[in-house]
Amino acid sequence: MFIRKRKKPLTLQKLDTLIPRLSLSCKQLPYIKQDAAKLQKGYNGERRLDFYLQSLSNNYYILSDVGLEFYNRKFQIDSLIISPHAMYLFETKNFEGTLTFDTIHRQMIQFNNNQEKSFTYPITQADNTAYLMMQWLENHQLKSIPIQTYIAIAQKSTIIRVQGDDELITKYVIQAEDAPLRLIHQDKQYGEATQADPQRRNKIASTIMTHVQDFSVNVMEKYQLTKEDIKPGTRCSSCSQLNMIYNQGKWICPDCGETSKSAHIATLQDYFLLIDSKITIKEAQRFLKISDRHKVYRILKKSNLLYDFKLQAWIRTKNKK
Ligand SMILES: [Zn+2]
Repeated sequence: MFIRKRKKPLTLQKLDTLIPRLSLSCKQLPYIKQDAAKLQKGYNGERRLDFYLQSLSNNYYILSDVGLEFYNRKFQIDSLIISPHAMYLFETKNFEGTLTFDTIHRQMIQFNNNQEKSFTYPITQADNTAYLMMQWLENHQLKSIPIQTYIAIAQKSTIIRVQGDDELITKYVIQAEDAPLRLIHQDKQYGEATQADPQRRNKIASTIMTHVQDFSVNVMEKYQLTKEDIKPGTRCSSCSQLNMIYNQGKWICPDCGETSKSAHIATLQDYFLLIDSKITIKEAQRFLKISDRHKVYRILKKSNLLYDFKLQAWIRTKNKK
């Protein structure tokens, strides 16, 4: 049972919003596009694992994309599953070609299109996450629970090779497709040794849910962009151009003819996602490209925003976050 459903990762949301708002001559654009493609790939792999995990019984509580903090150390789990016997942490890898796990040099090497690339050794990563998780549970006065970590290979076509300790890798690395069966099998083994504790599962799941965070990167900082690099303009939902014109309570796209009464809502969301969590009337005039202050005031008032008198700006309402 999915307790926390997967959403598009916040950093990917930001990059997808950012890319169409950068000028084609922006020199960071190729890197930003590359990073967005990488994140999208990871997200696709995670969703593939979700697809297989949904066959698990309601005894298994599934929490997707869990970001937690422990004494200023942030850690993130792609899929976290809690049963009455144990907790399972999944890290998903979505790679093409051949993946070699080298247990001697503690490396993961991808070979694809005649290119060899080395990545962080996922076993160390998985062990670290499990350790932090354990500390986190203890810190929140939760009962201890066995923790098992897995590395799920999202694509069936990925070839897995092992250099060194075969047994170790077989314990950790599994095909996403095999995840439910492996989990059920492992859980049965825990079940033979310990008593089921559904209360512990419920308590852990609810405590995690109250502390879980959506981690994201400050993309403006990361790519050294300023507000001036972001193209203003109201985005057309049909052709994605930023040229919509406001006329008599309606937005019209001069590029494709699309009309909309609420195009400003998505555009203001773009602003909040990329630039600031608040917007002044003056800024909104600039970003929506409407010179008439009163018109902008009326639009902001209708946009489910709150006016903060202290900041003299409009902010998003909490439940719309
Ligand atoms: Zn259009």
